[in-house]
Amino acid sequence: MIPFSPPRMDQKIVDEVVDTLFSGWITTGPKTKKFEKLLTAYGGHKVTLCVSSASAGLELMLRWFGVKEGDEVIVPAYTYSATANVVVHCGAKVVFVDVGDDFNISIQSIEKAITTRTKVIMPVDIGGWPCDYDPINALVRRPDIVSLFNPSAREQQMLNRILVLSDAAHSIGGQYMGKHVGNLTDITVYSFHAVKNLTTAEGGAVCLNLPEPFDHDIIYRDLNAKSLHGQTKDALAKTQVGGWRYDIIEPGYKYNMTDIQASIGLVELARYDGDMLVRRKQIFDRYAAAFSKFEWAQVPKYESEIRKSSYHVFLLRIKGVSESQRDMIIREIFAREVAVNVHFVPLPMMTYYHNEGYDIKEFPVAYNNFSREISLPVYYDLTNEMADTVVKAVVESVRKVLF
Ligand SMILES: *Cc1c(COP(=O)(O)O)cnc(C)c1O
Repeated sequence: MIPFSPPRMDQKIVDEVVDTLFSGWITTGPKTKKFEKLLTAYGGHKVTLCVSSASAGLELMLRWFGVKEGDEVIVPAYTYSATANVVVHCGAKVVFVDVGDDFNISIQSIEKAITTRTKVIMPVDIGGWPCDYDPINALVRRPDIVSLFNPSAREQQMLNRILVLSDAAHSIGGQYMGKHVGNLTDITVYSFHAVKNLTTAEGGAVCLNLPEPFDHDIIYRDLNAKSLHGQTKDALAKTQVGGWRYDIIEPGYKYNMTDIQASIGLVELARYDGDMLVRRKQIFDRYAAAFSKFEWAQVPKYESEIRKSSYHVFLLRIKGVSESQRDMIIREIFAREVAVNVHFVPLPMMTYYHNEGYDIKEFPVAYNNFSREISLPVYYDLTNEMADTVVKAVVESVRKVLF
């Protein structure tokens, strides 16, 4: 069986992890701080806070912005559940909007969904393809949209407009207008989950890029406390001479990254652009060249003059199929010893959200994209021969079901 997304593990990672294990410090410490600095340099944003997952990072930032009951947060209908679940955790209302043909949030739909209760927009770079951020950033600054904004928390008053919090779980390394994902919106959150492009097994990072008059050193210090029970000192600082006394300034969360996780990330980041992304792009190019020969295949966009994907998920669509035909094609592909996936079942179709009253009929593009989508394996260790086996399995399966 060709697996869908195994992590790349080798001696370099083992050595770095072992180095941490015997260093005398295994939780948040020097390696996490080093990883944060390197991520800041990589993304080109202002400050990075490493956390235990992207979910934790997204929720932390909604809480930081004071999102609570009575507020609304705009989320694409087509995403992983984490994007919307964190809004529910804060007691706010998820306002789903439809997406475009490129799987990403539709800007026209965002505009229609904005009300006086809207506090945050959460675009998601599906498959690693950055959203069209210039129009999103322009929209939240438009005077008629700004005048709808009703700030309550101090951070909301300081920003005085809707916050753009992008879910970049797929898209570290992606680019838009020559800038890296991380430096495209107010706040960007990466995921380092095991199946993501750059992994720490579990983990995430919050990239801060807020406008004046926000002070990023102060925000970093506050977020550090917020991600560690509101403690004024982290565990490492407490071990220093005379450092035992600390205070709790708020009932914070437990969202910190460990140095064991960071050590995997340090190795991954060092070879990300020069090696990992190069290989992922080769696989995308190989799939794109193979499938563009077939009339029934719709190849995803992954490069344009202004945008570059991080080549996270190859979202193939089959033209003109129903959801059940697509499911049959997937069964045939698995029967040929190839693991594929679907990214994603739109959230209004999930039991919880459906029971909350969301209806997939209101998101026709999201449904259409989902019903015809098959995600193909893309990872560093996938050889050209394996990629060709994937193509052959898909072509045979489509022929068997459709022709
Ligand atoms: C994986 C994923 C997340 C969650 O990432 P974690 O690090 O596992 O919390 C959030 N959003 C999207 C779109 C994802 O694919």
